[in-house]
Amino acid sequence: MALHEMMNYSQLFLEIFNELQQIEDRGRVADYIPELAHINPDHFGVHLTTIDGRQYAFGDSEVRFSIQSIAKVFTFVLAYSRVKSNIWERMDMEPAGTPFNSLIQLEYDRGIPRNPFINAGSMVVCDILADQLASPRENVLAFIRSLSRNSTVDYNPIVAHSEKRSGFRNYALVNLMKSFGNIRNEIDKVMDLYFSICSLEMSCRELSESFLFLANNGIVPHSGESILSPSRTKRTNALMQTCGFYDEAGQFTFKVGLPGKSGVGGGIVAVHPGKYAIAVWSPRLNKKGNSYKGMLFLEEFTTRTKLSIF
Ligand code: GLN
Repeated sequence: MALHEMMNYSQLFLEIFNELQQIEDRGRVADYIPELAHINPDHFGVHLTTIDGRQYAFGDSEVRFSIQSIAKVFTFVLAYSRVKSNIWERMDMEPAGTPFNSLIQLEYDRGIPRNPFINAGSMVVCDILADQLASPRENVLAFIRSLSRNSTVDYNPIVAHSEKRSGFRNYALVNLMKSFGNIRNEIDKVMDLYFSICSLEMSCRELSESFLFLANNGIVPHSGESILSPSRTKRTNALMQTCGFYDEAGQFTFKVGLPGKSGVGGGIVAVHPGKYAIAVWSPRLNKKGNSYKGMLFLEEFTTRTKLSIF
């Protein structure tokens, strides 16, 4: 079904939501970051924005939540658009096939992460931004505020602190990379930026609007601002397709069929190049750390509308 033929996505969202209510949610809220364990697991929101400006929402679409690893796309895009050096000498472009915080490959690959969307890769991106930008924390925030057209989007220092205190595995990753010479700045500087970006809070509406340039050849539809070249936009979408869901990227491609990115706050954003960006939020996670019902919802959505890229 073509996008314009769809009468009312909000109605379809309601139908899919009601059907999913019949299914037991076998997911669990992320509690390895203590501050995230407090969230009400029954939240559910979805927001779709088309490149010609139409908006369809359902449920808690305006409620902000911890975007966690979804932020890895923003920092990667910022580095990819600003940095002149070859960032692919510092990280690869291959699906990891391992959990987002796995240490195994880093040892074999001598401190080169498999891609920018696992924790290690995003830490290298943070290290690059720390080198290139005068005030990386402020610059990243300004970038996301401008993409979301909302100057109140912010870091949550309580979540960042909670993650820092419990981030033993993340410190292991960054130390291992530092031992191989692939982290140039002081570890605390890199990790303060990393934990800050993970703590960003945004709503489904803000996420779907912020990702819209990836569905539009790198150009923000409403302003005409160019964020990335068409070629780099294609590559960013390719990375989301192959690496956006850790060791479940194949399954997401198989079932949903869109480039996207998830976070352990229960959010998923996906884009359909040339058409739309959609964000869904449901906090309970499956074993791979992706939103249990968020994945099911998107699978139903792209199956019923035939709006996947495949
Ligand atoms: N902040 C989380 C971590 O580093 C991000 C992981 C995720 O969202 N998959 O563990």
